[in-house]
Amino acid sequence: MNMNLYGHADSWLMVDCGVTFQSPLKPEYTQASGSSVMARDIFDVVCADPRFITAQKDKLAGIVITHAHEDHVGALPYLWQRFKCPVYTTAYTAEILRRKLSRDGLAQRMPIIEVSTQQKVDIGPFNVEWIGITHSIPEPHALMIRTEAGSVFHTADWKIDAKPITGQPFNASIFKQLAKQSVNAMVCDSTNALRLGHSISESDCYQGLLELVEGATGRVVVGCFSSNIARMISLAKIAQKTGRYLALFGRSLENTVSAARATGHWPQELEVIDAFHAGYLLKHEVLAVATGSQGESRAALSQIAQDNYRNLSLEADDLVIFSSIIIPGNEKLIDRMIDLFHQRRIRTILAEDNPKPIHASGHPCQEELILMYNWVKPQLAIPTHGEPQHLKANADIASQCHVPRSLTGLNGDLFIIAPEPKLVKNAVKTGRIPLQN
Ligand SMILES: [Zn+2]
Ligand SMILES: [Zn+2]
Repeated sequence: MNMNLYGHADSWLMVDCGVTFQSPLKPEYTQASGSSVMARDIFDVVCADPRFITAQKDKLAGIVITHAHEDHVGALPYLWQRFKCPVYTTAYTAEILRRKLSRDGLAQRMPIIEVSTQQKVDIGPFNVEWIGITHSIPEPHALMIRTEAGSVFHTADWKIDAKPITGQPFNASIFKQLAKQSVNAMVCDSTNALRLGHSISESDCYQGLLELVEGATGRVVVGCFSSNIARMISLAKIAQKTGRYLALFGRSLENTVSAARATGHWPQELEVIDAFHAGYLLKHEVLAVATGSQGESRAALSQIAQDNYRNLSLEADDLVIFSSIIIPGNEKLIDRMIDLFHQRRIRTILAEDNPKPIHASGHPCQEELILMYNWVKPQLAIPTHGEPQHLKANADIASQCHVPRSLTGLNGDLFIIAPEPKLVKNAVKTGRIPLQN
């Protein structure tokens, strides 16, 4: 549930405004022991408490959204009324955002300024440059935020993907150029800072999935995250190649594919059939993508497991592929769903167990972090987007790469970047607020 504020010359710039799901308001309870959390303490949608900036909203020059993942944009429809300031983002993210806003009638009122890759925009005293990067969603962007006092390279979520399926391949030259401009601080994604090596390319998942579908004789249903358009493009290509028809099970999947079509991210030649046709096809013609790979009870995959999904019924020897990670905390729900499939002799394959990759993380592993620190050569590293152990691992990598200083802190801390780097603990009252029960 990202919410970053950059301050300069008595103005603020918000970068991202995201949510987290199925969470308590006091996260330490879940970390200590999952079972100690009472059901009534868990909220469907939660975000960071914005009271610090709400109290001085006149000083908020604008909100920048780096990409369309829920942990970066999901809270904006709920919170924007408190800020009422312009929102800057690229076309695909704007399309996803507008679809959320139309539900609340906010679409006409929120000024959304669409920017494009490499564009530089003045927002109050901040000059913001959109830098194209690779991640696991269309149009991910890092930001170069320049002020009279100094500059910050804000990576947002990223990985190095030479063959991302959708969008441009990773281009290192842009980041090497940044070093020449002397970057004061690099605020960097720490999600996979504990993982050795290099992340897997989205193209490798295409190969892994193709082999599984080619080897299947019955129906194939693939569970994956609904925001991953690249994975869906891969599956649509695989359907074409293997004589199957691709169907989408779940409203969020239909919505992201339709947003991708509207913004030119969906290859026109790739067909998707109406979901209700899937049940009428021969079994070796069915390839479906379904929501609910985390065992969410109301999602399509759970309903298929219980054999009460309206568009398709699976039989013995049909195959269910989990082209996703198991998000910690969801193990029991996923196990329960897999048991239901196995009771009916439906085969399942988890990404963790398959010898070939069928899921790729969108975040940088250690080798990628090392490359980026060596290209950008910031004066200061500020690890973000992770638990304290991830932040520390990221800071250690920065120091190996001869970044002179790093600051690791917690939510609510103030990171002074220039003229002299310094961390002020608990500078801002923060916490979590529920957005939906
Ligand atoms: Zn994220
Ligand atoms: Zn992301």
